Amino acid sequence: MDFRLAPEQQQFRDSVLKFSQKELSAGALARAHDPKYPWDVAKKMAKQGLLGITIAEADGGQGGTLMDAVLAIEAVAAVCPRSADVIQAGNFGPIRVLAEYGSAFQKQTFLKPLLNGEAVISVGMTEPEAGSAVTDLATKATRDGKGWRVNGSKIFTTHSAYADLILAYVRFGPGVGGIGSVLLQKDSPGFRLGKKSKFMSGEEWAELHFDNVFVPDEMVLLGEGGFKKQIAGFNVERIGNAARSLALGRYAFEQARAWALERKQFGRALAEFQGLQWKFADMKLKLEAAQLLLYKAAANADRGLPTPEDTALAKLACNQAGFEVASDALQVMGATGYSQDVLVEYCLRRCRGWMIAGGSVEILKNRIAESIFERTFPQRGGS
Ligand SMILES: Cc1cc2nc3c(=O)[nH]c(=O)nc-3n(C[C@H](O)[C@H](O)[C@H](O)COP(=O)(O)OP(=O)(O)OC[C@H]3O[C@@H](n4cnc5c(N)ncnc54)[C@H](O)[C@@H]3O)c2cc1C
Repeated sequence: MDFRLAPEQQQFRDSVLKFSQKELSAGALARAHDPKYPWDVAKKMAKQGLLGITIAEADGGQGGTLMDAVLAIEAVAAVCPRSADVIQAGNFGPIRVLAEYGSAFQKQTFLKPLLNGEAVISVGMTEPEAGSAVTDLATKATRDGKGWRVNGSKIFTTHSAYADLILAYVRFGPGVGGIGSVLLQKDSPGFRLGKKSKFMSGEEWAELHFDNVFVPDEMVLLGEGGFKKQIAGFNVERIGNAARSLALGRYAFEQARAWALERKQFGRALAEFQGLQWKFADMKLKLEAAQLLLYKAAANADRGLPTPEDTALAKLACNQAGFEVASDALQVMGATGYSQDVLVEYCLRRCRGWMIAGGSVEILKNRIAESIFERTFPQRGGS
């Protein structure tokens, strides 16, 4: 066992850091406060080979490992926290599920614009009555000739306000076994955006409504019985969520560290007060411990998918560490940390959302408990 990065991993991280310092440093603050997707960043990243890191070369990707993609998030977020979302969208999100399970037709048609940074894909799972209990989803696909008619709606979908393609979880039949997924294009008749909203992070999202949208058979990603595979693919998204939580916590930590060395009160640098030194020691411990779990999950996955248990532990640790460290970093920086002139308050707002998105911290704990006791714990009343 070796806890150091391999020389080629270190080299890759250094090169992404160098790229980020050159291309993303200017405008990092403005980008964080812009609700729109940073398309200019996406195109630069595509050129740099940072989209599709884990996607096979045959499909237009780089053929790298999940760990490489995690390192890319870390290096980008260290310079521009908001731009880490582009690494997420181009590597960890539904793009990876599409690359993993998509047909040759689906991959040939949709991967190229996504990998070129010209389009983005969303995953629509959550519905008004199906949040944590995602298998309660009601969006229905009904057979119609050589395809399906899809009816239903989705909420809270990241990128939904401007995504070109939606990977939507739908119900082909009853029960968990009846769930699968389809690819929906925004311009399909019957597909409409509803009320627009914003998360606390500033990101825009819009309700998605499907009114009798026709989906030909070749646009079904995983048919009836596909739910388990779908969630296995979703664990990659969770690793990206975890990596961003940790990276934004670390960004806030570094800002607070520099501030504590610079800022003087009572005639001394803040770093000289033991009360703050211990806060920094606690922050460091949380970041380092979470990082080990994140690296374990990513390294164990290699070129494949991370295990549910590794993923749940990594996401829980990183979500908690990111939020708590960002909050402590803000406290160390006083009113400056609380101000929108620095990115620390942004890191706190983003990390707060990741404790809910992609499986809340409570749902992750439920999953971890199942591993501990080697049994399932049905959450439904009366079961
Ligand atoms: C920033 C952000 C981005 C998102 N992006 C997407 C996206 O791209 N696509 C998408 O489909 N969805 C997305 N979501 C939605 C997200 O998946 C849901 O918010 C999440 O699954 C929780 O559902 P809910 O908000 O309806 O909360 P609820 O399920 O109503 O839960 C409310 C609270 O109860 C807790 N709880 C629920 N059940 C249990 C239980 N059995 N045991 C213990 N506690 C429980 C939850 O943890 C939570 O704290 C996003 C959400 C956020 C915040």
